[in-house]
Amino acid sequence: MSSEKTEKTDKIKITLESANLVYTWKWNITNELCSICRCELQEECIECQAEINCAASGCHIAWGCCGHAFHQHCIFRWLKRQQKCPLDMSEWSTEKIT
Ligand SMILES: [Zn+2]
Ligand SMILES: [Zn+2]
Ligand SMILES: [Zn+2]
Repeated sequence: MSSEKTEKTDKIKITLESANLVYTWKWNITNELCSICRCELQEECIECQAEINCAASGCHIAWGCCGHAFHQHCIFRWLKRQQKCPLDMSEWSTEKIT
């Protein structure tokens, strides 16, 4: 009689893939793009350019506490669906509107 004992060692190797995040965008803040509509923040948002919004009060920039900035119109539309920053998925709270 032989009692064979097979020990299973399930080693799950978690390989962390180093995501190649591009952080080099910050070299020129003045040319920053709104990641939602892909238009420059200095310009009007894509809705205002298409005259969907009556931009009587202008198209403002909304800055989040995470440091990201979007057109106020763009982030407002986004926040209707989820209260998160589109870029880092952290909880969005508007720090200032310029
Ligand atoms: Zn935009
Ligand atoms: Zn706008
Ligand atoms: Zn963010």
